Amino acid sequence: MLMRTRARTLARCVAIGAVFVARPGAAQQNRPYRPAFDVANYEISIDLPDTGHAIRASVTIDVARTATADSLVLDLLDLTVSRAEVNGRAVKFNQGPATVSIPLPSRGNSFSVTVDYAGSVSDGLIARVDTAGRWTYFGDNWPNRARHWIASIDHPSDKATVTWRVRAPSSQTVVANGKLVSSKPVRDASGGNRTETVWRESRRIPVYLMVIAAAPLERYDLGETACGLAEGQRCVPQSVYTAPEQRGMLPGPFASAGEIVRTFAGLVGPFPYEKLAHLQSSTRFGGMENASEIFYADGAFRRRTMNDGLIAHETAHQWFGDAVTEREWPHVWLSEGFATYFAALWTRAARGDSAFRAQMAGIRRTVLADSNAVTHRPVIDTIETNLLSLLNRNSYEKGGFVLHMLKAQVGERAFFDALRAYYAKHKHSTAVTDDLRAEMERESKQNLGWFFDQWLRRPGYPEVTADWSYDSTAHEVVVTARQGSRFGAFQFPLTVAAVDSAGTQYRATIMMTADGATPRPARIPLASPPATVVLDPDVELLAVLTTGKP
Ligand SMILES: [Zn+2]
Repeated sequence: MLMRTRARTLARCVAIGAVFVARPGAAQQNRPYRPAFDVANYEISIDLPDTGHAIRASVTIDVARTATADSLVLDLLDLTVSRAEVNGRAVKFNQGPATVSIPLPSRGNSFSVTVDYAGSVSDGLIARVDTAGRWTYFGDNWPNRARHWIASIDHPSDKATVTWRVRAPSSQTVVANGKLVSSKPVRDASGGNRTETVWRESRRIPVYLMVIAAAPLERYDLGETACGLAEGQRCVPQSVYTAPEQRGMLPGPFASAGEIVRTFAGLVGPFPYEKLAHLQSSTRFGGMENASEIFYADGAFRRRTMNDGLIAHETAHQWFGDAVTEREWPHVWLSEGFATYFAALWTRAARGDSAFRAQMAGIRRTVLADSNAVTHRPVIDTIETNLLSLLNRNSYEKGGFVLHMLKAQVGERAFFDALRAYYAKHKHSTAVTDDLRAEMERESKQNLGWFFDQWLRRPGYPEVTADWSYDSTAHEVVVTARQGSRFGAFQFPLTVAAVDSAGTQYRATIMMTADGATPRPARIPLASPPATVVLDPDVELLAVLTTGKP
């Protein structure tokens, strides 16, 4: 997803952070979340009201028992369970404040578990009136808010397919994950006209990406895009759903949506889902990468601030975050860092190298300006218990810049070969950082433990100071560099460029070492004193860079 402005993000954390901390299961897990179970499929049937917050739902879960356990514990908040069944037989369940526990037979290890429940939704499914006074319903689950409306194993480690069966007033357009299966008129108890819409996502996705939209949305068809670059050499049908008033802005920045998918599919692999819809929604985030249906903040449409950078970020998540999901929350940079970096790679494809370098320089400035997460916590943060606090400069910008440095470290070709291998191996499944490291090491034939440790498991960044002088006897520019000790010493190559009066660069590399020793100066042959000396001219190093005067 994309964070909103910092102030809003913080306000949100303050408002509801305590809820997340207090709840068992929201905290970081160093052990599997529900180790004895693996959900294969959710069938979620839901009745939406004409107005208000009251819903009725029935969830049938196909689940395998993989270790000893006498009951299945599902996450569910706020709503009241009226009935539970196992393999078609009613059972006595036990509902606590945050879970419902369902006893399982001792025989067999494969179960169909159904839970019926109802009540007033307060989160997860956002029920509200839009600016024109119409009732709208949008799922917004990240990170563990699905449990407010979906009885589930609400953790990214357990991915499953999902079928949505949504009954809503016929004035609503219903969109959900995957492919549209059917849409038919039905009558409610009082004889009112309603429509039952069925969507089916046949790829395993985490519960935090399982959402529906039901609102008076109008569909704008972007057509078949990126042909040959969906799985099975198919095209990717794309569309945009907005409130009727916003239709006039289309396609606007969504004119790039096809080329964005084409670019990423070319870099990583075929687009993983049946379709890609873009929706104006009630998400609390700037954008939320729900699998095959991206939800954007309502205001980006109304204020006409939607842009291709946001579309690229959320589209990149379809591969990274959605198809390959971080197995544990401390590894969320595998989702957000990738989306941040791929948005920059979209800039490179669309606007060229100098625009790309400018974007990376901006990302670096953002990281270096941060005095919270970046300076105090590593990117892989196993201590943080407030999941919303993981939406920080480490997960996004620093994670993105680490990928950029990794590309420089192993080379462009090995980097993308390794990314493709990592993606192919873990798609529709989960991964942690060591899975990425393994593929990078295999492709580059380098040991990269030091790289991943210093950039992802320690806070901070290097602070480099370089001085230069001109040796008029040897006709050489002499550059010395040293690193400060604020975050300990790092290992990295420092590219230095002496620039002559015509603007031509003459480059050398200084190898900085993890023992913090002062390295040998670089000596760059040059007939006359340089106009200037530039550190890291390609913007490939996450560091504070200071150049002294000669
Ligand atoms: Zn994101």
